[in-house]
Amino acid sequence: MSPENPLGQHPHPVIIRTDFDRKKMKDYVIGIDIGGTKIAAGLFDRQGNFLAQGRLPTGSDCHPDDVVNAAAQITESLLKKAGMGREQVEGVGVGTAGHVSYETGIVLTNSNLPDWNYHPLKETLEKRLALPVILDNDANCAAWGEYRFGAGRGSRHMCYVTFSTGCGMGIVIDGKLYRGATGTAGEIGHTVVNPDGPLCSCGKRGCLMSYACGMALDQMAQECIQCDEDTLLKSLCGDSPQHVQAEMIAEAARQGDQAALRMLTTAGRYFGIGLSTVVQVLNPDRIVIGGGLAHIGPMLLDPCIQALNDNIHPVLRNSARVVLSELWNDAGVIGAGALTWERNP
Ligand SMILES: [Zn+2]
Repeated sequence: MSPENPLGQHPHPVIIRTDFDRKKMKDYVIGIDIGGTKIAAGLFDRQGNFLAQGRLPTGSDCHPDDVVNAAAQITESLLKKAGMGREQVEGVGVGTAGHVSYETGIVLTNSNLPDWNYHPLKETLEKRLALPVILDNDANCAAWGEYRFGAGRGSRHMCYVTFSTGCGMGIVIDGKLYRGATGTAGEIGHTVVNPDGPLCSCGKRGCLMSYACGMALDQMAQECIQCDEDTLLKSLCGDSPQHVQAEMIAEAARQGDQAALRMLTTAGRYFGIGLSTVVQVLNPDRIVIGGGLAHIGPMLLDPCIQALNDNIHPVLRNSARVVLSELWNDAGVIGAGALTWERNP
C-alpha cells in the first residue's frame, strides 16, 4: 500500500456493528464467491449443509456493476429455491480476490481489475440485497470454510494455501482468522523468493507467484515451446503456445514428457519453499492445500513436500500436518457465509 493511500483515508464511512449477540443469530446464511468470470453462491445451515446452490456468469471484464447485479439475482434465486424469506437469513458473506478491507468492506486493490480499486462493495451490496453483508478476501473465506467444515477441522493454528491460477493464503491463529494490520495478511504470492527473478504484476521481481502458480506454469510452457524444445506440449496446444494450460502440462507429464515434468517440479518446489517460510514463521499445526493445481497430484505435490522439509529448521519437521482440501470449490462459498456468524468478537 502506498503512503499516499493508507487504509482509512477513503471517502466512505466505516460502520462496524457492536450490537452483536450470538444467541440471537439466525440459523441460515448465504455465501458468495466472486471469481474471475463467474460467481458461485450457496444458502446453508450452521452445519454447512447446502439448502440451495447456484452459479452465474459476470462477464469477462467483471465490472462491479455486473457483479452486484449477478449477486442480487443469485440471492433472490437461492431464497426462492430454499423457500425462505430474508428474515430467516443472518446475512451474506462475500469473498473476492485482491486486497480487501474486512473492517470497512472496501475492495482496496485488485491488480487485474482497476475498476475495483477502492470500491465500497459491502455498502453497495447491502443496499441492493437488503441484507447485512460482510466482505473478505477469497483466500480468507476459503480458509475459514476449511477450518469450520473441511480439512482444517480440529486444528488450532491452520494455514490454507491455494495452488491455482495465482497463489494465496488464509491464516487461522488460535481459532480466529488473522487478517493483519491492514487486512492483507497471507499474501504469500507476493513474497520474494528471487530478487533477480521475473517481473511480477505487483512491480517487484521474483515473487513466489512468478514460479509457483498456473500463470507461472503457462509462462514456463510458452518459453519452452518458443525455444523449440522437444516436448509433447507443442501438439497438445495445437502449436499455439498462448493456448497452453496447466492441464496440458499435467497431461504431457503423465505421458513422460521430460520438459513438462521439469515445469511441475519447479512449480512444486517453489511452492514448497513458500510453505517452508509459512511453517518457519507461523508454526501452524495444519496446512491445507487447495486450488485447481493441487488436483495434478504427486508430480507437483511430492517436490513441494520435499522442498518444505528441506527448507525448515529440523526442529519444525513434521510439526504441521499437510493435507488436501476437502471442500475444494465450495470452500470459498461456505467460508464467506460462515464468516457472517463471526463478524464481531
Ligand atoms: Zn508480486
